[in-house]
Amino acid sequence: MKRKEDSMKQYAVELHSHTNHSDAHFTVAELCQEASNFGYDGLILTDHNTASGYPEFKKLADEKGLVTMRGIEWTTYFGHMLVHGADYLVDWRDAQPTTIDYHIQEVKNAGGLVGIAHPYAIGSPMCTGCHWSFEVENWKNVDYIEIWNEVCPDESLSSWEAYARWTHLLDQGYRISASAGRDWHRLEGLDKNPAVTYIETVGQLTPTSFRQALEKGAFYLTLGPKLDWQIGSHHMGDTIPTGIYVTNIQAKPFDLPAFTPFNPRANRVKIIHNGEVYLDIPITEEKITLSLHLQPGYVRLELWGAIKDKTNELLLVSNPIYIEK
Ligand SMILES: [Zn+2]
Ligand SMILES: [Zn+2]
Repeated sequence: MKRKEDSMKQYAVELHSHTNHSDAHFTVAELCQEASNFGYDGLILTDHNTASGYPEFKKLADEKGLVTMRGIEWTTYFGHMLVHGADYLVDWRDAQPTTIDYHIQEVKNAGGLVGIAHPYAIGSPMCTGCHWSFEVENWKNVDYIEIWNEVCPDESLSSWEAYARWTHLLDQGYRISASAGRDWHRLEGLDKNPAVTYIETVGQLTPTSFRQALEKGAFYLTLGPKLDWQIGSHHMGDTIPTGIYVTNIQAKPFDLPAFTPFNPRANRVKIIHNGEVYLDIPITEEKITLSLHLQPGYVRLELWGAIKDKTNELLLVSNPIYIEK
């Protein structure tokens, strides 16, 4: 009998991209072509405060077999927010730092998933509105927080600030995912390493399975390596009871050509359980099998290793598996 995990598949996607319908160099056709060339299976167009490029993008994406959904980057003077899969646009013009929970609820009412974009980007006067200054009270309505933004996120201090914020929210008990956004505006230089999001889903990638994986947190971010990880038969985004489990971890080499110049190689795995490093071990065999004793909270995984001329870099961040009493 075929087991469930046998049919689990991974797809390379990008959640944050722009065209000349807002401030990017790409036309819709160019973005679609470049996404196809890169090897993405899915891409969401998130122009600033407009989805006017979506009908053309959807048509071209369908022709290329690229899975997509409606998206915008909800762009204000107090922060930028990725809105994925909403049925209609939610007005951003009267957003104030203290009213953001109301606006996020409106986005949820419109069927949107909410991701905070580049929360620690430099704001005014360099880029007014790029820094997240909204005062969120209800973090339950936030689906993800972009811990990696643009290419070379490994070189950016703001990545670590966002990582710390994400960790803090997880430690407070929120179910919130980490996301990566290429914030794709133009073809970057060949010396700039990209990060890619892989989503896990059973069977084909469709707009529905794409959305469900994002909503659940069934995805990881990587500067190259790929990852197969299960606890028992459970995957990222699942909830399991407290207990002792067998976990299987398999780090795999990159398979997208864009990573070749940077040669990322994972050589250590860290298991993070409720904010603490539970295990930090070298990758010495193809498949690592371990026993985990899990308390209520969350467990997630990181791969560390070499990229470019650096030898000890965070290369991959999984989203959590959650544990309940
Ligand atoms: Zn932005
Ligand atoms: Zn953007």
